[in-house]
Amino acid sequence: MEKKLPLRRVAVIGTGILGCQIAMLASFRGYSVTVFDAEATAFQKTFEKIRADFHSKGIDPIIPWDQWDTCAKAIDPVIDMGEAVRDAELIIEAVPENLELKREVFRQIGEKAPERAILATNSSSIPVSRLESSSGRQEYCLNIHFYFPLQGTNMVDIMGGTQTLPEVMDKGVAWIRSLKFIPLTVKKELLGFCFNRVWRAIKRETLYMWGNDFVDFRDVDRAWMVFTGMKEGPFALMDKVGLDVVYDIERVYYQDSKDPKDHPPEALKEKIKNGELGVKSGKGFYTYPDPEYLSPEFLIP
Ligand code: NAD
Repeated sequence: MEKKLPLRRVAVIGTGILGCQIAMLASFRGYSVTVFDAEATAFQKTFEKIRADFHSKGIDPIIPWDQWDTCAKAIDPVIDMGEAVRDAELIIEAVPENLELKREVFRQIGEKAPERAILATNSSSIPVSRLESSSGRQEYCLNIHFYFPLQGTNMVDIMGGTQTLPEVMDKGVAWIRSLKFIPLTVKKELLGFCFNRVWRAIKRETLYMWGNDFVDFRDVDRAWMVFTGMKEGPFALMDKVGLDVVYDIERVYYQDSKDPKDHPPEALKEKIKNGELGVKSGKGFYTYPDPEYLSPEFLIP
């Protein structure tokens, strides 16, 4: 038997790559979803873009293909933020990663949403403690951080702010579970949340070993593939993410800790300067479209 939903009405503010997917997922799981974006046609545009992208890459999404149109049609795109949040019980903002912008969005939502509505940010790097005061409802604020949801990454970080009520955390966890996603609860504020932090530790160490010429990056990937049974290693994954994006993220951790060991290696900066950005530029650690780690010889002793 389907479990009762912990709430009914969700609003998503900002329907770019992440917001659009969150809205679709919530609609698929039976929520009534309203969306608002500063650009009126953003939801529809992003929806088409993601659909085409998944098709071209052969990605098998969480929402079956024959239900995409139904889910999208059930979503109500409105042209006014107040209208989007007026009846919402949970509001998730997924506007660009900019502290001032997010604070302003939190302020507007705080003014317009029902008193007890939960306000969450999907930010990848900003703890909600830096946004909560502008909402005027610190007790109801959360980080709810999705990884690329429709692609099947069914896990979500959840972290409270300085005054988040336990029942608000509980409701957030119940909502994540109702999406059939795994909640990764972060009990105290931590930059990078739960899994990003694990992935980040791997990046830091492997970049250090390669950047200081201790090892060949291919051997790290070979070892990883043998040990975990995965089809690619950390360097291949970094190529997929984009080396410029990896560099910027590593800088965020460095700026937080100021520990020289957290600084990304100069060799990575050099690659970026040479236009070697990974899959998107045709060259990163490997050369694309046929990177050598995909060849059967890669793991032959
Ligand atoms: P995006 O640029 O694709 O989308 C942002 C959307 O917000 C755009 O459609 C834009 O028009 C809209 N917007 C801008 N200002 C607005 C405002 N004042 N009010 C309403 N809408 C506004 O960004 P994204 O990649 O979807 O990222 C959104 C958030 O999700 C960021 O905080 C990011 O850190 C986080 N995130 C992104 C990823 C990812 O892989 N892209 C993964 C996890 C988390």
